[in-house]
Amino acid sequence: MTDGKTCEECDDSRCAARDRREGEADEALRERRALEARMCRIRHKVVVLSGKGGVGKSTVAVNLATALAMAGKRVGLLDVDIHGPSVPKLLHVEGGRLGASENALIPVEVECGPGKLVVMSIGFLLRNRDDAVIWRGPMKLGAIRQFLAEGEWGDLDWLVIDSPPGTGDEPLTVAQLLPDADGAIVVTTPQDVAVADVRRCVVFCRQVKMPVIGVVENMSGYTCPKCGEVSGIFGSGGGKAMAEEMGVPYLGDIPIDPEVVASGDGGAPIVRSKPGSETARAFARIAATLMEKA
Ligand code: ADP
Repeated sequence: MTDGKTCEECDDSRCAARDRREGEADEALRERRALEARMCRIRHKVVVLSGKGGVGKSTVAVNLATALAMAGKRVGLLDVDIHGPSVPKLLHVEGGRLGASENALIPVEVECGPGKLVVMSIGFLLRNRDDAVIWRGPMKLGAIRQFLAEGEWGDLDWLVIDSPPGTGDEPLTVAQLLPDADGAIVVTTPQDVAVADVRRCVVFCRQVKMPVIGVVENMSGYTCPKCGEVSGIFGSGGGKAMAEEMGVPYLGDIPIDPEVVASGDGGAPIVRSKPGSETARAFARIAATLMEKA
């Protein structure tokens, strides 16, 4: 962290972009320095992963980023799901457009005080929200690098990165571009099949040397709003058992809650629309754990 210094004023001898790597071309060094100049102004970087789609990874990313901003933190949320960006919809800023200055992309700001939340997504660059983005690996890498290196993120406490499901190009690119990331939050649902997929995420993190901050079990039990009885529609506890077995921390569970769907469709994450609800409190507890661990 430069504490507001520019690269020229900074004397951080550990800076990854300080020295040219062996055989590194001018262009590659210039790109690496541009990335580092932005990223060293962000204290903590976390990547949200899941083994498979539909487990609520984007919902968790959006609610955690919002909860951190509501706790007074300066937060960036980067949606690198090139094929299915859902963050703009979940935050109700679908019509948003990234601004552009001479050499920077200006993120969309979402009202979320007392902290701040700024967001970048490929969704802000699509003319039509149904436009399919058919990109190969190198193009995805270029887009993610551009979001990170040319995004006018400013000084942030947290950058939360929402990856597409699985362990493909996007999380790999993020892991390579951000070797100093705090780590990954892995989201699962309780069923065996989801838990098996999440195991692969943990193995992936080990291979790319990204620490696992912890596992979140989403859609863990359903509390009847009428009688209060808890029923395990998808079961519960699978994520916790897997975390123990794999030797990674467990961050907590989020219940199934129809309000999560309604608030997603309505555009304000549940931590903001229903802050007193059990589900919002469960997200806030996980955000608090993250802040404690940082
Ligand atoms: P992913 O990013 O893993 O593909 P999403 O976050 O898009 O998943 O969530 C998939 C669907 O599940 C969405 O319709 C979302 O509203 C719903 N959902 C996510 N978490 C919950 C929850 N805890 N309770 C009820 N519905 C949820």
